[in-house]
Amino acid sequence: PAETLEELVSLCKRRGFIFSGSDIYGGLQGTYDYGPLGVELKNNLKAAWWKAMVYERDDMEGLDSSILTHRLVLHYSGHEATFSDPLVDNRISKKRYRLDHLLKEQTPGVLEAVAGAMGLSEVSLAALVARMLAEPERAASAMNAAGVVDPADGARGDWTPPRPFNMMFRTQIGPVADEESFGYLRPETAQGIFINFKNILDATSRRLPFGVAQIGKAFRNEITPRNFIFRVREFEQMEIEYFVKPGTDEEWHQRWLEIRLAWWEAQGIPREQIQVLDVPKEDLSHYSKRTFDLMYNFPTLGFEEIEGIANRSDYDLGSHTKGQSGLRIQARVMENRHSTARLAVQDPETKEWFVPFVIEPSAGVDRGVLAILSQAYTKERLPNGEERVVLRLKPHLAPIKVAVIPLAKNKEEITAYARRLKAELQALGLGRVFYEDTGNIGKAYRRHDEVGTPFCVTVDYDTIGKSQSGSPALKDTVTVRDRDTMQQERVAVSELAAYLQERLRF
Ligand code: ATP
Repeated sequence: PAETLEELVSLCKRRGFIFSGSDIYGGLQGTYDYGPLGVELKNNLKAAWWKAMVYERDDMEGLDSSILTHRLVLHYSGHEATFSDPLVDNRISKKRYRLDHLLKEQTPGVLEAVAGAMGLSEVSLAALVARMLAEPERAASAMNAAGVVDPADGARGDWTPPRPFNMMFRTQIGPVADEESFGYLRPETAQGIFINFKNILDATSRRLPFGVAQIGKAFRNEITPRNFIFRVREFEQMEIEYFVKPGTDEEWHQRWLEIRLAWWEAQGIPREQIQVLDVPKEDLSHYSKRTFDLMYNFPTLGFEEIEGIANRSDYDLGSHTKGQSGLRIQARVMENRHSTARLAVQDPETKEWFVPFVIEPSAGVDRGVLAILSQAYTKERLPNGEERVVLRLKPHLAPIKVAVIPLAKNKEEITAYARRLKAELQALGLGRVFYEDTGNIGKAYRRHDEVGTPFCVTVDYDTIGKSQSGSPALKDTVTVRDRDTMQQERVAVSELAAYLQERLRF
């Protein structure tokens, strides 16, 4: 794995995986653009998820709901009231921080002093933040007295009382800018699934348990976006809402934990690089009965969340349904005066209507990309003393599957052969096949090692039947080089498709 985040950032920029957003105008904080190789890797990751979570199961349906969202959706979901992070300003440096992030960066002594001043003996960060938000004036004095420093310059700050900051992007919809005509960019893809529950049920006649999967963008106005694509303001999620009968939810929650860990393993993230955090009660989101966070061991950052698997109980469907009072909803929900749909199912035996519980495995595409890149990144010392950087990506995730390299760029017969071969291989549907004619062969191998291309296929004089030795035996054969072993094999062109298909099958 990579040792630092910096070496990944540098590789990503140099080779065209990821660039900072709006770069030529100085950058737009919290946004990144996926370059030529990044878009392939990301698409491959999403396709792997869709294949495993939708196509290979018989209890799933897909959805692609809109990003622009009616404000009532996010009113009844609880996001308007509670989807916020605690914010605090340093009056001296004018810098703004997420309170929990700021506290985490203090020395233990300072943190204890703040907690002590807030009347807490044990330092649980979540409990401390909650107390500080409840008593903001006292919190400001506590921070100032304890000498909380600004991580940007290490100097003591003059801290304002903390306040909750809603992370949703509100946006005007339509030409009239009055107080009513606004909506939100969705902060999670999940709500699109809940509000379509009845549509999907009517269209598919599904019975419990079943799930709905969705991949798409989500937006959060993070107070301090940071750590490359780990914490950004625009990101992508791969979410499943899996609807089950109340009472079976805890068992399904465990099952999904195992399914998801196995999936990450298949993407090249070994089980031992993930810690499963059983999120403490005081840290749970407003909708959650219990949550497991999958924490990947990132370089530089340490263990951080790549996926949350939440038991959202009947909170969401219960919040968005009409006729709440007749449905014996277990979660505490707001009274809904606007919904036009009953988001419930009927018990086939008792004929009673009830609201399903939902298990939600919610993974970040960008954090997944970062984890996969970190894990795949390898620096090797070769026998000749040289250093080689190789991305040991699972072949199905590799941005380029095969590079076809003509050994001589100015020999028409060779380049024409290579181009024809490239087109034939491309037609196999393996993913991107790349015609590589820049630099010498050694450089080409090095470049493709660095971006994780599993196979390099070289077309040379032997291939076209013009070997230096004059022997025609190698006509219509090519050299295939394996990224991981660096072994080269001579393979007949007539067998190349089968050779590659077998090794790249997924
Ligand atoms: P965090 O605690 O790190 O802010 P979260 O617990 O709020 O994350 P969830 O609401 O559970 O995150 O979202 C599910 C997934 O979406 C996360 O596991 C993560 O992979 C991804 N995600 C959430 N916020 C961001 C972000 N700002 N940038 C990139 N990915 C994100």
